[in-house]
Amino acid sequence: MHDDPYLLTRVCRTCFGRQTDDEYHFMMKCEKYKADRDSLYTSIIRSFPNFTTLTDKDIFLYMTAIDNAEIQTKVAKFIKDNVP
Ligand SMILES: [Zn+2]
Repeated sequence: MHDDPYLLTRVCRTCFGRQTDDEYHFMMKCEKYKADRDSLYTSIIRSFPNFTTLTDKDIFLYMTAIDNAEIQTKVAKFIKDNVP
């Protein structure tokens, strides 16, 4: 995921340039979006209790590939509300 030289020039301003600002960082790691991310996770857990047992990589894959309209809508709202 981080082998692309272009990505090395994308740094997160919120994290003071210590993190590559890619889709994974935005969806999973950036502190700036933690409150909204926690809220999203809480709402997903209501539909999918095993969500808490997934690894970060699997959570990312779940949120970006899930074939469930209700969860897709929640993930889309998180993105819409937080993309700069
Ligand atoms: Zn960040």
